[in-house]
Amino acid sequence: MADDDCIFCKIVAGELPSQKVDENDRVLAFLDINPWTRGHALVIPKQHTKNLWEAPKEALDATIEMAQQVAIHQRDRLGCDGVNLLNSTEPVAWQTEFHYHVHVIPRYEDDPLRLPGKPLDVDQDELAKVAEELRG
Ligand code: AMP
Ligand code: ZN
Repeated sequence: MADDDCIFCKIVAGELPSQKVDENDRVLAFLDINPWTRGHALVIPKQHTKNLWEAPKEALDATIEMAQQVAIHQRDRLGCDGVNLLNSTEPVAWQTEFHYHVHVIPRYEDDPLRLPGKPLDVDQDELAKVAEELRG
């Protein structure tokens, strides 16, 4: 079901313009309107789902498969030297559009992108404690 307030649903429906780069019956790839590098694309499932926590497996599988294809085309057709995949889930993690999407960001040797964080200062005990919590 499309979400009436979702601009990515409107792009899927053709109600808003986009620069499509690939599509199949499940997923659509189009250029980010504010690209971080040349060829920065977004891949979305056509069916509305909010984010990584809620996306059904079929949507995740189809999206990552298309993301790989887009990344290969970025290498072979745009000549990028590497690729970053990024998903943001919830505002604290920088999600601004609440329709699940993966950024496929071509990287070039001379591009301006830099990692936004630096590692926490942790010891082996802390790593072991966190791993135990995650194992449940
Ligand atoms: P995020 O912050 O991970 O939720 O990413 C949302 C992305 O959607 C941003 O990089 C925006 O530039 C991009 N975006 C927003 N509106 C549009 C649009 N109409 N067409 C293409 N990309 C868009
Ligand atoms: Zn949507």
